[in-house]
Amino acid sequence: MNTTEREFLVRTGMLNANVYAGIQSDDCVVWKRVPGGYQNFSLCNHSCVKDVGGKATGGNYVCDASFVFAEKSPARFAPREAIVKWTRNVARAHAVAREIFFVQHFNAYCEEFRIPAGWADAIKTELNSPDKKVEVNRFGGSPEMLRECSGIIADCKAEGLIVNLTTPGRRFMSDSQFVSDIAANPPQMLALSFDDVGPEELKRIAAMDLEQIKAEWRTISPHHGQRQKAYEGLYAAKLMRQMNVSMKILFNVVIHPGNIGHLDDLLATLTECVPGSFANPYPAQSFDNETSCWTLESLPALRAHIRRFIEGTLAGTPGITRRLAYYIALESACRRWSSAQERLAAFMSGIGAWDFTLRSGAYRYAQIGKNMDIVELPFGNLPFPGGHLGCFWNPAIGLRQHINGNTEEIGETLVTGMVKRGEELRKGKLVYVQTSNIMPRLMFDVLSTELGLPRTLVPVYIRTREEYCGF
Ligand code: SF4
Repeated sequence: MNTTEREFLVRTGMLNANVYAGIQSDDCVVWKRVPGGYQNFSLCNHSCVKDVGGKATGGNYVCDASFVFAEKSPARFAPREAIVKWTRNVARAHAVAREIFFVQHFNAYCEEFRIPAGWADAIKTELNSPDKKVEVNRFGGSPEMLRECSGIIADCKAEGLIVNLTTPGRRFMSDSQFVSDIAANPPQMLALSFDDVGPEELKRIAAMDLEQIKAEWRTISPHHGQRQKAYEGLYAAKLMRQMNVSMKILFNVVIHPGNIGHLDDLLATLTECVPGSFANPYPAQSFDNETSCWTLESLPALRAHIRRFIEGTLAGTPGITRRLAYYIALESACRRWSSAQERLAAFMSGIGAWDFTLRSGAYRYAQIGKNMDIVELPFGNLPFPGGHLGCFWNPAIGLRQHINGNTEEIGETLVTGMVKRGEELRKGKLVYVQTSNIMPRLMFDVLSTELGLPRTLVPVYIRTREEYCGF
């Protein structure tokens, strides 16, 4: 029997208790005018940058979706029907992909990653459990910008999907109908952000009532999106709690050199300020795939947190997000490149890191969104923006075609098509194209995490996993 192994895998988040695969959909893709035509662009109604026109905003990181980079692109998103159809097609294809993977690729995975028979059996049995579902994370710059955001959530729930909404939360302040619609049929999880405000400031904002939060929010510069969304997120979380809406509230906390020194205090304060909420910390990632956002000086503090997360997960410490395989991947990178700190800083920034195009089966948290094609058509004749399988962090991966209704074909693309796409990008271009990232949601579970690891990291990863997990 593999009950013990299965229990360990689920308890430590190496496998998800309810979900066998996922979809992250960038719902906020629009068309942007570029030389030669129009190109997809992920639009947000926030601007998270460090400076605008040489003037510091107060923000500590730069996000490509910031509206200051949109050059007045109109906010014309794909309609609800198209967005739901793309999601439904990928969700159905996940079942096909699972079958293909376990028949054709699972044995090779077990061999490369030295998975003992009992553990292999536990992974296979757990992931094929009929109770497991597909999760969709409605995402993008700010999916609440879509007029039909709550309708899209309702449609996805009706399809039997587990739905997360990852959004800054501004609309909770301004649209009472939206609040009622969300409260009447909420997503299973509301994920908000909190990453650029210190614990003392957080305590001060959290002590305010809703009207006070809104009043102070109005005084923030529109170019300081990081600060705006801290107020918006706390407002949305407090409102949903006051209304007793039944859903999990998660605060995504990007760990960066600017907050690493007070991270523990920040995480503890967040979950204290919104009782019953969870904090989800993960390392900042570079958008340009060239410059590390981690400094050599900040790496020791980051490693101390990684080790604490590993030990906390194993001990069942409350308040630690359980995803042991992800933490072990980070710890093994610290060991592998202990005397190559520049390489380690790059890995932690998502450069030369986890890559779902390396092996079949790593792309189990599929992504719907933009590609990089330039389309030469009059604006009115352009197809709906978005709807391509690809990667938010590496838009060059985005496939040319829109997601269609052929379940078998999409299933094969999820398993082997993205590997071919990665090979094409790595070999066929004169310019090297980066295909990796380090996002825990996309790395998902033990299987997809391991299948995306760089080959040079695998031996140290296996030794680290054996040390902490016994296999
Ligand atoms: S709110 Fe999020 S998506 Fe929007 S600009 Fe800021 S970091 Fe980017």
